[in-house]
Amino acid sequence: MKKNRKRKYGLDFYLWLAFFGFAVLILLFCEGSQLMILQQMKREQTLDNLSFIARETDKIQLRPDNANKYLDYLSESFGVQAKIISSDGCLRYPYQAEECEYGDIVLILTKREHDSGILKADSSEYAYYKKIFLGGEPCYLYVTDSPQLDVGLFRGILFQTLYVTAILLLVVTILSGMLSSYIARPISDLTEKAKLMSSGNLSVNFEPESRFVYRDILELSDSLNHAESELSKADQMQKELIANVSHDFKTPLTMIKAYAAMIQDISGDDPVKRQKHTQIIMDEADRLATLVNDMLDLSKLSAGIDSLKPSLFNLSECLKTVVGRFGYLTETAGYVFKTDITDDVFVEADKEKIGQVLYNLIGNAVNYTGEDKRVVIRLYEENGVAHFSVKDTGKGIAPEELDDIWERYYRTKETHKRPVKGTGLGLSIVKAILTKHEFNFGVRSEVDKGSTFYVDFPTEKVAKISQEESIL
Ligand code: ADP
Repeated sequence: MKKNRKRKYGLDFYLWLAFFGFAVLILLFCEGSQLMILQQMKREQTLDNLSFIARETDKIQLRPDNANKYLDYLSESFGVQAKIISSDGCLRYPYQAEECEYGDIVLILTKREHDSGILKADSSEYAYYKKIFLGGEPCYLYVTDSPQLDVGLFRGILFQTLYVTAILLLVVTILSGMLSSYIARPISDLTEKAKLMSSGNLSVNFEPESRFVYRDILELSDSLNHAESELSKADQMQKELIANVSHDFKTPLTMIKAYAAMIQDISGDDPVKRQKHTQIIMDEADRLATLVNDMLDLSKLSAGIDSLKPSLFNLSECLKTVVGRFGYLTETAGYVFKTDITDDVFVEADKEKIGQVLYNLIGNAVNYTGEDKRVVIRLYEENGVAHFSVKDTGKGIAPEELDDIWERYYRTKETHKRPVKGTGLGLSIVKAILTKHEFNFGVRSEVDKGSTFYVDFPTEKVAKISQEESIL
């Protein structure tokens, strides 16, 4: 089902955003540190200024007649505010009527250890003070300067930041546009091709076309090419499956119809012929039933609906029973079953399904064994593993077909006369059951010499279980 996903922004937008964000961050960092450095410099400059004024003042004898002039000189030359305050907090110079609001400052100054020095009046002001006698009256020369950056400079920096941001925006947009077209183009190319594939075209080539190709794109294109070949395979198999199923159903159905018609028209009154023809109908109906059951088994197993019912059971006994089911072939068709089965090998598995595995593998050996009609069956235990194998003397399987025989409806190029009826699903059922059990299995085969199918059943766990049971 198609999820109702909101359309998100494309890679180009995110690239632009990342670039821009990064650039703004760097810009903020630069401007911030620039401001901090300037602020520090201004503070040092203020202190230097005041120290210089202190040295200058030490050289001068301040009197009522030169005080005003000296204060003007300080303000103009150093950009500071200079005043002389009487010890009762009133402003003496520059004279501005009766201004006596400096009581607090005088209080602070009188508490200081030295008669002159530099102090931090408040966060935005440094001050130089010096106790003097002016016309016999004790006073304070009080010079203040601000260590803060002035507003004009601050505004200048802000304006510069905005200006650079605008230029950055432009540069970043161009740069990210160029880069994203390089980075995103191969991705959008692949997306277009994937869309083509999803619409049913299974011959799309996912090799990247653009000149700028990076590792992730190569990996993605490889994965897509692989997915496409798997899809083509699945598509081909599905077609073959339908062809095989319809063929397998058609043959018995045609037979059933033909023989039913024969009974109706010809053999209805002849009990011997009727018996023969109804038997054929029943056999064909049985074949159809087996086919349908096999198909159901397989689809349940592959869909994971059919869960395993594991139990501890005697594999040796189970194998002997299965071999016994083929016993009639010894008398009727001259088959030779050579068995070498160790007694009482216990395994933990789904007994019914393992019985089916053994039946299918031995049935195949019977079908495909050579002229001598020999089938060798072995079961022995070694290092905590029960090894089962069934060997025939038939034509064998070509190496290139060894993997394919486990696929549904796969048949090797060889045609065979079959004493045991096959549906073409036997080995896929075996594979599904053993894979579900996580047992090791496979086939060794040599062309013109025969094949050996094997399954390894772990018995170590079983031994532990039975040991624990005996302790209890
Ligand atoms: P089928 O009903 O055709 O035997 P299977 O799934 O059991 O279906 O086997 C798939 C194919 O694998 C067979 O058609 C045959 O070509 C090949 N095969 C299986 N067992 C043997 C064997 N013992 N010797 C040679 N070929 C085998």
